[in-house]
Amino acid sequence: MSITSIDKEYVAGTYGRFPVELLCGKGSLLTGTDGKRYIDMGSGIGVTCFGTADEEWLAAVTEQLNKLQHTSNLYYTEPCALLAKALCEKTGMKKVFFSNSGAEANECAIKVARKYSAEKKGDDHYTIITLVNSFHGRTLTTLAATGQDHFHQLFNPLTPGFLSVPANDVAALEAAVADCKPAGIMMEIVQGEGGVLPLTAEFVQAAAKLAKEQDIPLIIDEVQTGNGRTGKLYGYMHFGIQPDIVSTAKGLGGGLPIGATLMSEKVQNVLGPGDHGSTYGGNPVCCAGALSVIRRLDDRFLAEVQAKSDYIFSQLEGAEGVLSVSGMGLMIGIETVRPAKEVLAQCMEQGVLCLTAKTKVRLLPPLNIPMDVLKEAIGIIKAACKN
Ligand SMILES: *Cc1c(COP(=O)(O)O)cnc(C)c1O
Repeated sequence: MSITSIDKEYVAGTYGRFPVELLCGKGSLLTGTDGKRYIDMGSGIGVTCFGTADEEWLAAVTEQLNKLQHTSNLYYTEPCALLAKALCEKTGMKKVFFSNSGAEANECAIKVARKYSAEKKGDDHYTIITLVNSFHGRTLTTLAATGQDHFHQLFNPLTPGFLSVPANDVAALEAAVADCKPAGIMMEIVQGEGGVLPLTAEFVQAAAKLAKEQDIPLIIDEVQTGNGRTGKLYGYMHFGIQPDIVSTAKGLGGGLPIGATLMSEKVQNVLGPGDHGSTYGGNPVCCAGALSVIRRLDDRFLAEVQAKSDYIFSQLEGAEGVLSVSGMGLMIGIETVRPAKEVLAQCMEQGVLCLTAKTKVRLLPPLNIPMDVLKEAIGIIKAACKN
């Protein structure tokens, strides 16, 4: 039996997989079980930010793997402490809670916002305002936060206390704040699953101002936009704002499961002993991988990410069969004349693996993809958009 047929028989049918069996890879290249070479323009959905089996990342992870693979949170370990310190020093945040995924990072963010607001204003202040077309995860609470009804159907009732307002509509946000006794405002800087749609600077700044004036914790979901993906360490850094809570995951571990919830001075002491926890959270191997990722995301590296982004935009904007290009840094959405699925199929055939977001082709290549490999991939993508 083939891997595909075993998987189809035994793995829960929650994913529409592409007809590709992957065996191994190096850097921005992946190899199928049939020996076919692919350029990786998806990084496992923005996770393998330094590509596959990157030497420096591998060294950090294997060194830790040879010491301790897990301890539980009953003890102190160096990777967990140093990663929290590095994240705080690079963002100005004060405390970090570690979990294992984006949804969990958001669950923690929501708990912090609710507890802060309940203590400060009363426990009728529990509503979290999110944005229409957002994506915050698959747990019942983060689904409630996700402003897309089609994800909700047949899973009701979801956690109550969530309200979505249209993105980039300051008046709608102000009205919701006035109406609903909010406990928090939560948003992605670029709506990833929603179609790679960046928020406007005006909206981000107005939301931050409103949140500050009304003492409402502002949660920025940087699960996809974080860790260098948009050309800054975190997406909010493009807008000169300081969120109260930042959640991140995906690229943070460079390929190992880790989520982090960063808390500002204002909310740093909201969670006390027993308020939250995770058995795997702060796992030393995941933290060692993440620490090696975070240390490498310096200004020089981020400038290269931006230069690659500029190259992609310059190649694709106005290209035949391309209606529009959206996104920031190496998080890019391409609206195509052909259905995105057809473009993806042709790219795959030609050895380039891309993603979709809604009706768009989405690119999330490794941040360190070499320029010659990127050029080859973009050439193939351009040709596929045209046909
Ligand atoms: C992927 C994603 C999540 C969910 O992350 P998981 O690790 O799959 O739980 C949450 N928010 C955003 C913005 C995401 O892109």
